[in-house]
Amino acid sequence: MSTGTSHGTVYPVSPELKVRSLVDNERYLAMYQQSIINPEGFWREHGQRIDWFNPFTKVKKVSFDDHFVDINWFYDGTTNASYNCLDRHLETRGDQVAIIWEPDEEGEARKVTYKELHEQVCRFANALKSQGVRQGDVVAIYMPMIVEAIVAMQACSRIGAVHSVVFGGFSPEALAGRIIDSSAKVVITADEGVRGGKKIPLKENVDEALTHPSIKSVEKVIVYRHTQADIAWHDHRDVSWTDMTAIASPYCQPREMNAEDPLFILYTSGSTGKPKGVLHTTGGYLVYASMTHEYVFDYKQGEVFWCNADVGWVTGHSYVTYGPLLNGATLVMHEGLPNYPEVNRISKIIDKHNVNILYIAPTAIRALMAEGDKAVAGTSRQSLRLLGTVGEPINPEAWHWYYKTVGEERCAIVDTWWQTETGAAMLTPLPGATDLKPGSATRPFFGVQPALVDNAGLLIEGEGEGNLVILDSWPGQARTVFGDHDRFIQTYFTHFKGMYTTGDGARRDKDGYYWITGRVDDVLNVSGHRMGTAEIESAMVAHKSVAEAAVVGFPHNIKGEGIYVYVTLNSGTEYSDELKSNLRQWVRKEIGPIATPDIIQWAPGLPKTRSGKIMRRILRKIASGDYDNLGDTSTLADPTVVDHLIRDRALAS
Ligand code: ATP
Ligand code: MG
Repeated sequence: MSTGTSHGTVYPVSPELKVRSLVDNERYLAMYQQSIINPEGFWREHGQRIDWFNPFTKVKKVSFDDHFVDINWFYDGTTNASYNCLDRHLETRGDQVAIIWEPDEEGEARKVTYKELHEQVCRFANALKSQGVRQGDVVAIYMPMIVEAIVAMQACSRIGAVHSVVFGGFSPEALAGRIIDSSAKVVITADEGVRGGKKIPLKENVDEALTHPSIKSVEKVIVYRHTQADIAWHDHRDVSWTDMTAIASPYCQPREMNAEDPLFILYTSGSTGKPKGVLHTTGGYLVYASMTHEYVFDYKQGEVFWCNADVGWVTGHSYVTYGPLLNGATLVMHEGLPNYPEVNRISKIIDKHNVNILYIAPTAIRALMAEGDKAVAGTSRQSLRLLGTVGEPINPEAWHWYYKTVGEERCAIVDTWWQTETGAAMLTPLPGATDLKPGSATRPFFGVQPALVDNAGLLIEGEGEGNLVILDSWPGQARTVFGDHDRFIQTYFTHFKGMYTTGDGARRDKDGYYWITGRVDDVLNVSGHRMGTAEIESAMVAHKSVAEAAVVGFPHNIKGEGIYVYVTLNSGTEYSDELKSNLRQWVRKEIGPIATPDIIQWAPGLPKTRSGKIMRRILRKIASGDYDNLGDTSTLADPTVVDHLIRDRALAS
């Protein structure tokens, strides 16, 4: 049940959720207080949620000073990530399914128990060792969404190697760049990946990447046979996964790692510029990933958890791999596309595997919404009890569609705001504690101190809007940009002294809820009024004909900056001038005359990162007619979209 108008709707926690959940609101407030007043005590207690070989006595040593940024958690403890994800579950749930793998084509799923996963990881870890991989070596993983991607990550962490997962959809060039940046010693790949019925020549891409003259570090390429495709084989470098694991011993002792030893490098999505190779370490990341997975999704033993992110993104690290495995969950992993072979594939997978918790991105939700009820046709989704979203601000319209059509008003939605750099969720509802407001990522997780500052760095109290910063460290925080600590300091700690700068703007309402307004770099200044992109985009998406919208500023003689909107319509809707003027009227009514779009361009496709985020920096260039220097486009999902937008620029009005 909801209260309020369609804009300010509030969905109170249902009585059932309040009872079944780990924390209700009183408990949330008490725990949150404790986590802020006494972080040492709070994290000393919750740091125990993972197993330590040598227990930590020191909890936290942190400096956000821009002369010396240094972040340490649990830093005299020793542990191992793979041990925590696998070994400690063997006694209690060795025969429980850890991974349900759903192939691209509809067909039989593959199920792997904790015991089986443990053995596969051990064998592969031994195989890695036999290829000379040692503690601290970087291993690039360029794999499709198959069980072996998780096995590879686990095997690396088991022996203390640092994995650097590169999204399997990246080009040879993008892969080469990441190999060079991280000095990877080994590349793990498959013959091919399969997505939406199309084959992706992963091994061929690796071969091409390795022709890059600057790559000197790679000694071996380990190849998993997934589709059995014909591939070129280089005896001096290529090694067969299957041959190696067949002769490897089925047990591998997990390496004792210091809490602050590196666990992985991961490149950001590249929405705002050249991707950053973010480094996460072991102890703090494990504690924070597992704790958020349990509390945010209110995960209970035996439930089936499905996060459909690719392992190439941080969401795929924290909520496909580490979080669920640390908590002994049963997770679903899907190889293919969410709308293949039909737009109801997600719904069918939910029914097939009795998924209880679904976690997907707004881009997927909007794509499904554009197809209306077809997205759920012929399915019941009775097993679902909780929905989640991450990656971009979710427009309230998309939120409501997700809530009503996918969850049948039965399931709460957790809108989680976080970043590659934060390791795991930072602003998020907790299902049993937080009344929901569509479009708001609500309140901070335990130990997280968000704040708003103006451009001069002054703290904004109470209701207001400004730059979202975090005032103190949390265990899941990135420790550096790999090989470039200066860039880490420059990017996150110099804008506002002593604080972590997120690069996002936010508004805080009277209840202390946070609303992400968009990237700070994308803020519009129209006749002296500062406006985030999210609000105007959400107003557009609220129109019945609009599937998706992206807003940018462009130079305007009178206003300083004008509002330029790219609009994608729902499937089957006709693009017309009449509709354009309707949309202008619509935004005037929804927000006010100040937000009226100056120019609308029809955009059957929007430029997105490979992780599904709108790249407004490219749209800004197109809007201002500056086509020559589009910046780093290496993470662009479909370059032809950009060509079409440039071609159609003249038709915008
Ligand atoms: P780059 O840092 O290279 O520009 P990126 O910021 O897109 O890329 P990610 O770390 O994948 O890389 O994305 C984090 C960003 O995604 C956040 O800073 C925020 O802008 C956006 N985001 C994530 N979740 C949410 C959410 N629930 N609501 C609003 N925005 C979100
Ligand atoms: Mg970012």
